[in-house]
Amino acid sequence: MSKENILVIEDEKNIVELVKYNLEQEGFAVRTSLRGDAGLEEARRARPDLVILDLMLPGMDGLEICRALKQNEKTAHIPIIMLTAKSEETDQIVGFELGADDYVTKPFSPRQLVARVKAVLRRVHEKPKEKIFRVGVLEMDTGKYLVTLKGKAVELSSKEFELLKALLEANGRVLSREYLLENVWGYDRSVEIETRTVDMHIGQLRKKIKAEAHRVITVKNVGYRMDVDS
Ligand code: CA
Repeated sequence: MSKENILVIEDEKNIVELVKYNLEQEGFAVRTSLRGDAGLEEARRARPDLVILDLMLPGMDGLEICRALKQNEKTAHIPIIMLTAKSEETDQIVGFELGADDYVTKPFSPRQLVARVKAVLRRVHEKPKEKIFRVGVLEMDTGKYLVTLKGKAVELSSKEFELLKALLEANGRVLSREYLLENVWGYDRSVEIETRTVDMHIGQLRKKIKAEAHRVITVKNVGYRMDVDS
């Protein structure tokens, strides 16, 4: 089996070395780039299986790189994990809107990052079960990876799509934040869990499904459910 290729775009040499070492230990082939502009070129040329992307980079910042990769059909499928500092929460939101698949907050443990990389790749490799859901004017076709409102396409990030799918599949049942983190994000329960991530994505999802936003119901201290009956 050929090794999966990971591209790490990060300007802090000690982080690059640590990440590279730990990913290689897990059997990944790792390329690195210390500059944003060179990293984007490398991603376009090498088309890795996954990109680990820092936000603050010389040459070109992480958000610009994320946008450039996701807007080009040749690289749009490449999953991106962003590295962010706690203070960069708005950048995380922008990153998700641009299509980043996950983020890891600095400082992180190599074990945490490796777990996220594996979770993202596992999700990418899973073959979707094709199914169509309809509630109100909202329709989801999981085979076509398409969500529409009154027939008009809604642009969802990959996480928002998976979140909506999980809620629809639950058919009215309550899903806890922990369940969603495990099943939508693929987090292992042993990994430090940030349930805020779920709330952030629910917020984005509600904005995008407009007229049907009221169906996504917050169940206090537990999680979320979708009203699929009314
Ligand atoms: Ca940096």
